[in-house]
Amino acid sequence: MKNIVTRFAPSPTGRLHLGHAYSALLAHDFARSRGGKFLLRIEDIDPGRVRPEFARAILEDLAWLGIVPDGEILVQSERLPHYQAALARLKEQDLVYPCFCTRSDIAREIAGSAAAPHGPDGPRYPGACRELSGTDRLRRARQVPHAWRLDMNRAVAAAGPLLWQDGGSQVRADPERFGDVVLARKDSPTSYHLAVTVDDAAQSVTDIIRGRDLHAATDVHRLLQKFLGLPTPDYHHHVLLLDAEGRRLAKRTGAPTLAGMRAAGADPRKLAADLLRGELPAGYSALSA
Ligand code: GLU
Repeated sequence: MKNIVTRFAPSPTGRLHLGHAYSALLAHDFARSRGGKFLLRIEDIDPGRVRPEFARAILEDLAWLGIVPDGEILVQSERLPHYQAALARLKEQDLVYPCFCTRSDIAREIAGSAAAPHGPDGPRYPGACRELSGTDRLRRARQVPHAWRLDMNRAVAAAGPLLWQDGGSQVRADPERFGDVVLARKDSPTSYHLAVTVDDAAQSVTDIIRGRDLHAATDVHRLLQKFLGLPTPDYHHHVLLLDAEGRRLAKRTGAPTLAGMRAAGADPRKLAADLLRGELPAGYSALSA
């Protein structure tokens, strides 16, 4: 029997909403009902968007729901050397390359090409920097700020077929559709894909419970696990919650916050129990497809 470890890994870029509550409650309940641990990780690697007061508020909102995480809280901004070490491992395997393109360089290149394939995260990187020679790369890398991208075709060819489990069903990873994802940004020595993969292993997470919006990204994480020699947890991607207009709950569309519900006198025990039964407050629905 495995010792179950789940986690909730919010980004402190706004206050938590009902979708976060749902995800955190499912992960917490999954662990608690199996005698396991529930961990919290603060994913604060986006320097332009994170704010410390939102990180503090996460704990407050979780406590209101009756959730107290076990053990140490991992804070990604304190773990940058670990991501650098992981990137170094990928560099040694010749699976990443520096990318000097600005957003407008990329937009121009996409606009000028006949086919602009899209991946789950938007248009795929057209690959100008992948073609640079070794000496060009070295020279420019010394002078110009750069990101690091995964050479997806090379990685997929080297990895061979990869599988992972979603809610007990086998999924065949298809990370190619993402193209050459960024693993370290110009303004941050990591990216979501790299940090999440490194940290789920560092926290010995056995079961990842998160929204279906991250289902496709799991293919990239599975690929990185392969090259970083990390275990593959079991995944459970849950339905996403929609507001009264049928929009996915999101900070940017002004989804009602847990803090707002608290101020309006909502009963957190009832809310938590209802959510765990799949019963949503009036006006919300679940996107099941
Ligand atoms: N930090 C991500 C978010 O807030 C979630 C990461 C994950 O669960 O893998 O959307």
